[in-house]
Amino acid sequence: MKMRQNFKISYSRISTYLFCPNKYKLVYLDNVYIPLSVDIVFGHIIHKTLERFHSLEKSSYDLLLECYDDSWRSDGFVNPQQVFEYYQRGKQMLENYYRSFKESNSEVLYVEKSFDANIGKYRFVGIIDRIDRYPDGTYEIIDYKTHVNVWGPEKIDKDLQLSFYAYACRSVFGFNPDKMSIYFLSENKKVYTTKSQGEISDAIDIAVSTSENIVAENFDPDVSKCHICDLKFKCRFCIA
Ligand code: SF4
Repeated sequence: MKMRQNFKISYSRISTYLFCPNKYKLVYLDNVYIPLSVDIVFGHIIHKTLERFHSLEKSSYDLLLECYDDSWRSDGFVNPQQVFEYYQRGKQMLENYYRSFKESNSEVLYVEKSFDANIGKYRFVGIIDRIDRYPDGTYEIIDYKTHVNVWGPEKIDKDLQLSFYAYACRSVFGFNPDKMSIYFLSENKKVYTTKSQGEISDAIDIAVSTSENIVAENFDPDVSKCHICDLKFKCRFCIA
């Protein structure tokens, strides 16, 4: 019962559980360490840079680069050449980002905005990368991605994360997002999607059923994913 009272779910916990229930147990209950990949470190750097930049009262490209340098960390990179290549990639990304930002007529309302919502008897927590407000009073939720591949519309339309964010906006912040986008920073391309009430309800049902399974300690391994699992060398059920 204690676990139930304290239990909080999040998008990353749900996606880990849906990938493999045993992976959830290893990561969140047994605290098995997953080494950070270079791409994850780079993603953290860019997110931190944009959080710092949008917290400033002024904006200029030089200030954005200062935020980049202040956010940079070299741990996780394998050699100086890789550090150089990723640094240059990030700089190009931010140059494109700044140009688009200056052309946009929206106001950045929130960056890295945390929420704590109720889903049934559980808590759902998360952080939304950015919420903008337009002059006509409409709102947009923006989720940044830093990997090189731009997802297709089908994958974006099925994305659970944006459905959760839409739910959080309505239930915690008190407004319905009029637009939702994934911003692929490597290509400086925003891809928009919409979420119907039915899609948001379906996503919340998934969150509740995943929470129920976790609280009931249903952690059966899904060995169909072992070949792409980053815990394959630390898992006794692995068949890959
Ligand atoms: S190695 Fe296979 S069984 Fe083990 S956590 Fe990963 S996907 Fe699950």
